[in-house]
Order: sequence, then structure tokens, then C-alpha cells
Amino acid sequence: MKKLNFLMTWLCIFILTMLTACQTVDDISSAKHFVWMGEGKSEGSDELEQMFIKLKNTGIDGVMYQCGVDKYPAVVALAHKHGLELHAWQTILRRYDDRLLSEHADWYTVSRDGRSTAEHPPFVDYYKWLCPTKPEVRAYLTELVESIAEIPNIDGVHLDYIRHSDVILARDLWDVYGLTMDKEYAPYDFCYCEDCIERYKKETGEDAGTFGDAAPDNERWRQFRYDMVTETVDALTKAVHAKGNKINAAVFPTPTISKKLVRQQWDNWNIDAYYPMNYQSFYREDIDWIEQCCIEGVEAINGRVPLYSGLYMPAMKTPEDFRLAIQASKRGGASGVCVFTPYGMKDAHWAILKEEIDKW
Ligand SMILES: [Zn+2]
Repeated sequence: MKKLNFLMTWLCIFILTMLTACQTVDDISSAKHFVWMGEGKSEGSDELEQMFIKLKNTGIDGVMYQCGVDKYPAVVALAHKHGLELHAWQTILRRYDDRLLSEHADWYTVSRDGRSTAEHPPFVDYYKWLCPTKPEVRAYLTELVESIAEIPNIDGVHLDYIRHSDVILARDLWDVYGLTMDKEYAPYDFCYCEDCIERYKKETGEDAGTFGDAAPDNERWRQFRYDMVTETVDALTKAVHAKGNKINAAVFPTPTISKKLVRQQWDNWNIDAYYPMNYQSFYREDIDWIEQCCIEGVEAINGRVPLYSGLYMPAMKTPEDFRLAIQASKRGGASGVCVFTPYGMKDAHWAILKEEIDKW
């Protein structure tokens, strides 16, 4: 009997140890870390390969990589050679494309004061935006993401600028453009193209073209704009999933901020992962704010899919700030971080990133 008790005790200890070990493996495997980077500063493949090696040695799992679609096959092969995932980072609705601008200028969004972003982009010359309501735009973008999703072995399609032009700029940018954006002003309020007006009228009986300065008070009209972006994301998600691939997106910090500033209701989307750009300096916030953003984001998507906290290197005043930002992301429930960009990192940042990933 004594012997049996002894055996049972050891059996229990063995099972408990195994369970704990499994839990630890699970915890480690669910965290992932990424960077946003483009080909801009790494044209030579030697240089790019060195960067990939450095990223892998630091504990990074994948890169959101921006380049022309035809260049992806080679970059995917190089990333995989070094054990990194490669996701195709592409701007979607903001689209400065000469062919589209000359052949389909009518696909671009129109402001409340009747100006098209094709000819009169707000803020900066490249702010030319496709209207998410138009079936032709959705078909065009669907074809684009399908062509990316079909690239052999690519790990995912990473959407960026999947939103409207900023109806309200982040606080720190007001001074940059000499604007006070305390509410929704007509030149920055989109979209009032024929398709948007017509569809909204069909759905509600209201003519948004007559709203004028009362437009910002109409919650239903605001929701319609969120929904048009969401419907476009849904179409792209369906197309990418049908090709057996993954889709994810860079989004504004929280659903609340995203809706208010850029009409992006991302908690209503069904993508495979979120990369909120928790860039505290744009909002004149401190590092603790990153934790709050992660908490709100994770809660909004109900933990359905991972959320990776986007960190902005120029906003880190010291390397220690970078450490605190990573830790704030973890405390907020993020599944990892995504750094913009590795080119902005000094030796001290690389060391901190490795340390924090190792103990995540
Ligand atoms: Zn429109």
C-alpha cells in the first residue's frame, strides 16, 4: 500500500510537471513579434539578408514588407531562408496611381465641399483616396489582394491605409498643417460621391448631399461610412481566405480613435490579426497610454485573433522608453509587438528588443 501511495504521488507530480511544461510551451508559441520595413533602405540583397539575419537573431518572427508586387517572390524566399514570415504590406485605399488617376478619376473620394481627392488631395499631394463604396473599386482591390495571396509561400496580405482620409488629424499634426481640427470640417469629410449619396439614399431615404454643416451630427451617416470600409475589408478577407492565405491590417490605435479620426471600425472586421499603430507622440500621450490602447483593442476584438502592438521608434526619447513601451504592450494583453522601423534602431534598442522578447 505504501508503495502504491508512493507511485501515485510520483505519478501526480509527473502529470503536473507535464501540464506546466505544456502551458509554458503554449505561452511561448502564441507570442510573436514583427517589424514594418520596406525595400527603400535595403536595395542590395546582401544588405537585406544581413537585416533578416539580425531580425531573426533578435527573436523577430516576421516582417511586414513593402515593395512592388513583382518583387515579393524573391523576398519571400530570402525571408524563409532565415526563418522569418513575410507578409505583403500594401497601401490599399490611399492610391496614387497614374493609370487609375487618368482612367478612373471618378473612383476617388469627394469631400463634403465637392472636391475630389484625385485633383485636390487634402494635407499632402499623395492623399488621393479610392471610394470604398464603389463596386468597381472593390473589384479592383480584390484582384490586387488575390494576386498577392497567390504568390507561392507568402505568409499573408497586410493592409495599410484601409480607411478614409483623416476627418480629424491626430493632435500633434494640427500644428504641422496649421489647422485646428476640433470637429469634422467640410474639406476633410468624406465621401460624398454619387455612389455614396445614392446608396445612402436608397438605404435611409436621406440625402446626405443636403446635410451641410449638420453632417457631423448624423450618427447614421457616420455609421454608413464605417460600414463601407468594413464591407470592403470583408470582400478582401473573403478573397484572400479563398486562396488559402491570411489577411491582417495596420490600424489606428483603438476602435474609438479609429472611428473618430479615420472612419475605421476595425473591431467589426474579420481579419486574422491586428497591428494598431500605438504611436503615442502623434496623440501627445505618454508610454502608459500604449497599455490602455492594447487593453481596449484586445477587449474590442474579444481576443478572437492576435493583436500586435505597433511601436514608433521616433517616439522613443531614450532606449529605456522602448523597453517600457514593449512592457506596456505586454501588460495590455498584446500578443507581441511590431516595430516601425528596424532601420531606426541603434545597438541599445536591438539589445533591449532581444531581452524583452526573450522574457515575453
Ligand atoms: Zn464615395
